Amino acid sequence: MTANGTKNGAVEIPYKIYLSENEIPAYWYNVRADMKNKPAPLLNPGTHQPMTAEELSGVFCDELVQQELNNTDPYIPIPQEIRDFYKMYRPAPLVRAYCLEEKLQTPAHIYYKFEGNNTSGSHKLNSAIAQAYYAKKQGLKGVTTETGAGQWGTALSMACSYFGLDCKVYMVKVSYEQKPFRREVMRTYGASVTPSPSETTQIGRKILAEHPGTTGSLGCAISEAVEVAVSNPGYRYVLGSVLNQVLLHQSVIGLETKTALEKYDVKPDIIIGCAGGGSNLGGLIAPFMGEKLRGEADYRIIAVEPASCPSFTRGVFAYDF
Ligand SMILES: *Cc1c(COP(=O)(O)O)cnc(C)c1O
Repeated sequence: MTANGTKNGAVEIPYKIYLSENEIPAYWYNVRADMKNKPAPLLNPGTHQPMTAEELSGVFCDELVQQELNNTDPYIPIPQEIRDFYKMYRPAPLVRAYCLEEKLQTPAHIYYKFEGNNTSGSHKLNSAIAQAYYAKKQGLKGVTTETGAGQWGTALSMACSYFGLDCKVYMVKVSYEQKPFRREVMRTYGASVTPSPSETTQIGRKILAEHPGTTGSLGCAISEAVEVAVSNPGYRYVLGSVLNQVLLHQSVIGLETKTALEKYDVKPDIIIGCAGGGSNLGGLIAPFMGEKLRGEADYRIIAVEPASCPSFTRGVFAYDF
């Protein structure tokens, strides 16, 4: 399919789908390299000093620790094995929302980047495959994680089965009960899925004793997953959002969007993303923010968050140990 059907005199296609194996980014873009004010570092909860690579290596894979702490390299090569995997579902389509434009009666041209076109169903796979790859490369047996609604757990299960890694998922109990299909998809990929809090960890037993009947929380599931990772040789913990490394992997979203818009000869005025833990937003805006930071271009960037759990517009910005 051509990206410029009209220019070639062909019939105008309602959805300009951008597909080209060659336009999958070969590098992730690390926006922190271009930031003058670097983000606050991760602190060791005991000493309140910045976490060292050595301290982090008990929890995370070595290569991912390097990425987590890398504030200097703007471009980090994407290993060929990961690019081969991306090739199965990337580049993700950049779609023109003609009907929405019409409904809104707006002169604006609205495009959206659709990240749902992979088996796991979300952008989470972009980072899951990278994290599973580095775990495998390090010779680990498996990884542990938490999942809420289940997108991250599903993506990670898929990535782990691809590389033959064991995957232990702690799923917030209320979601485990409400979303049986997500749970079973993870199991189909060979992951073990445990409702959290559970009796399988010390912290889980403590939480159950103190709050009998609790339906769980992400924080509780994270605690269980971290405990299992640090107490089992050959295991590390992985996380689907929030971390620097995840935003780095998700930069493929923004890089592809930028390439596609350039191909359409469109310069965006406003870039909007939804923010939960910040990974799809961070990935989408990364290369545009880079241009802004380097003074090469200006964009208005808008983060949208749920009113039910706002982390940007309300609450305090503080460390939480
Ligand atoms: C995980 C997820 C989010 C929120 O996470 P971010 O890290 O903010 O991207 C939003 N949408 C979908 C579909 C998700 O899977």
